Amino acid sequence: MKFSVAVLPGDGIGPEVTKESVKILNKVGELYGHNFAFEYGEVGGIAIDNFGTALPSETAKIAGKADAVLFGAVGGPKWDDPSASVRPEDGILGIRRHLKLFANLRPVQVYPELIHASPIKPEILRGADFLVIRELTGGLYFGKPKKRWETAKGRQSVDTLKYSEIEIRRIVQVAFELAKGRRKFVTSVDKANVLETSRLWRQVATEVAVGYPDVGLEHMLVDTAAMQLVSNPRRFDVVVTENMFGDILTDEAAVVSGSMGMLPSASLAGVPDLNEGTRTPGLYEPIHGSAPDIAGKGLANPTASILSAALMLRYSMGLGTEAKAIEDAVSEVLRAGYRTADIASDASDYLSTVEMGTEILRKLR
Ligand code: NAD
Repeated sequence: MKFSVAVLPGDGIGPEVTKESVKILNKVGELYGHNFAFEYGEVGGIAIDNFGTALPSETAKIAGKADAVLFGAVGGPKWDDPSASVRPEDGILGIRRHLKLFANLRPVQVYPELIHASPIKPEILRGADFLVIRELTGGLYFGKPKKRWETAKGRQSVDTLKYSEIEIRRIVQVAFELAKGRRKFVTSVDKANVLETSRLWRQVATEVAVGYPDVGLEHMLVDTAAMQLVSNPRRFDVVVTENMFGDILTDEAAVVSGSMGMLPSASLAGVPDLNEGTRTPGLYEPIHGSAPDIAGKGLANPTASILSAALMLRYSMGLGTEAKAIEDAVSEVLRAGYRTADIASDASDYLSTVEMGTEILRKLR
């Protein structure tokens, strides 16, 4: 089969890790008889330097017509001036808006070989394997009014937390669809004891659950979820929540896996239907940033980007077998003891970005 992929490497280690993912996709193409056509675009700081904007129209065009987007990372000290009128992050926010990506997926898996890389005790972590789904387009981040003003008693400000039934329904549906292919259990996280939006969220989630009799649903308050994620992560299968709770919980969840360099993510523009192998448009990126402290040194772990490419095959191309082949290759490389610097227990014995990519490539079959 033929697929088009928009590759937006961005800044810092973005280009280094994305390059390894492209090699892996080409190898998947060779092994399984697919053709991936890559088209490259600039985004983030490099785009600001070259075009004066973090998301040039040409990049948006390339991303808009591709089957999927492979994204690196954006940002760095060069563009950090808080008073600047354009910022690298505008690139990722702009592309999410342009592609109407509303569901952010962050699978968290604990590799037995890396269990000591996490600050959490091994006996708590062992066997944890869950998926956090965050709503991306609504809630406090975008609700209006959103402003600041002066009063006789000093400055005041407001942000608005607003969710429509439609927005809640589609993200909860994503959770249930994906739970069908996992351990069939959804935890919907809210703050229904305080917030009206959460009470609507809870009601809609319960309604959606009726259509999925084989999948269990529990509601959990966000404060409890924050505690349970690090004290009992094994209890979760699929966690679904609104934008701001998700922003915070997904970073907390990252601690479970130990290294930023291992965690992929997907952002989808539709409800995936894995049974039919449908192609849901999406953007795939490691959860880490541009890591300016190690950029250009060959120290970046390419695994998060490579696992993001696997998610791309699964969700945007209907290629579950090929996705699993990449994930198996990563597990095998870890089992064989190969490590990049961020996950190495011996500080003097580790592979470079390219060497790690090459080992994963070798194990692909
Ligand atoms: P970061 O994720 O870039 O780095 C945090 C730490 O983790 C650093 O010590 C880094 O060396 C390490 N690290 C990250 N990825 C790694 C990898 N693949 N292999 C090995 N080590 C890795 O976060 P930060 O330092 O807070 O931010 C740096 C820049 O990235 C900032 O400009 C920030 O705004 C940007 N950022 C971008 C995104 C994105 O593009 N989606 C996300 C987060 C941060």
